[in-house]
Amino acid sequence: MSRAVAEINLNAIEHNLKLVKNKTNSKVLAVVKADAYGHGLIPVAQAAVDSGVDWLGTALLEEAITLRKNGFKLPIIAWLTPCGEDFESALNLNIDLSISSLEVLAEIISAAKKIGKIPRLHIELDTGMSRGGVGEEWEDFLVQIGHLLTENKINIVGVWSHFARADEPAEVMNSQQLSFFNDRVLKLNAMGVHPEFLHLANSAAVITFKDSHKSIVRWGIGLYGLSPDVENLGDSKLIGLKPAMRLKAKLNLVKKVKAGSTVGYGATAVIKRDTKLGVVTLGYADGIPRNANNLAGVFVAGQRAPLIGRVSMDQFVVDLGIDSLAKTGDEVIVFGSGIDGEYTIDEWAKACGTINYEIVTRIGPRVPRIYTRE
Ligand SMILES: *Cc1c(COP(=O)(O)O)cnc(C)c1O
Repeated sequence: MSRAVAEINLNAIEHNLKLVKNKTNSKVLAVVKADAYGHGLIPVAQAAVDSGVDWLGTALLEEAITLRKNGFKLPIIAWLTPCGEDFESALNLNIDLSISSLEVLAEIISAAKKIGKIPRLHIELDTGMSRGGVGEEWEDFLVQIGHLLTENKINIVGVWSHFARADEPAEVMNSQQLSFFNDRVLKLNAMGVHPEFLHLANSAAVITFKDSHKSIVRWGIGLYGLSPDVENLGDSKLIGLKPAMRLKAKLNLVKKVKAGSTVGYGATAVIKRDTKLGVVTLGYADGIPRNANNLAGVFVAGQRAPLIGRVSMDQFVVDLGIDSLAKTGDEVIVFGSGIDGEYTIDEWAKACGTINYEIVTRIGPRVPRIYTRE
């Protein structure tokens, strides 16, 4: 093994996709943005397709283009396409586009005119999150859409939105967003526009809010076997998900240190009694958050060894304990499913004051991904 690797269990990806298919009657879109949440775009997309996914979705257009160039034929949507993107390629490759503004719409139309295509568009509605989506400009937007439809310049295939608090199922905001969405869809219907695809459920809404499933659900974090919110929805195990990523590294060095020694930059950690330390070959340049603390660590020689001191750019130190059998050169598990006793991604997230999404997506390109089927 090289100094560090992220093992991606494709059987887990397939399991997590089958799980969602049993939870909904809607079509399932696998969210593979951000290099499939750090798991690797193409292998994850392939595993999703092999287990019968209906759609693929990315944020960036270049990720959608990469999918098409790798031969993926199913419907693909890219939903974060600012002005200036390569809309001609998008249209040539039959990638569905999302629109939130008349500015982007105008660029798409002019690209479409050049190559003689009618773009397939999904209108994003701002139903309360105040991020993407058409908001107060709705009336003007409708007028423009009306003209373009009459001139046969666009095809509105979808309308979609996004929940701000789907991971808090008791929040009234969820049903408010849904009814706002329904109202705006009715307005479109009243103009004679009947988009084939309505979608707003993310993983949390898939699990907790059946009324929001509509025609497509967008399955993101759940695909990777992680809970959208450990506190409110329970952990992966409770939901029946299998975490797909296991991060491994090596002990570059195992050494004894005396009580009173300090560890790392800032000498923030002081050794209380004689112990053995292990130097792990991963750092913040690889996506290990610098603010991780001793609630996380590694699993080696059958035991947990908590992190000690500050994470450096390429390495961090763990306290192995004086009796540890770990040796220089040993492999360690940084995180995994937890089945063997290793730290989980959720534990790392907690130790870093963040969420599991950020832990996996930030594992950087220096860490090779290898694919297994366990
Ligand atoms: C990332 C994203 C999702 C997936 O969210 P999860 O919480 O990971 O399921 C769904 N829809 C949109 C628009 C997104 O950007």
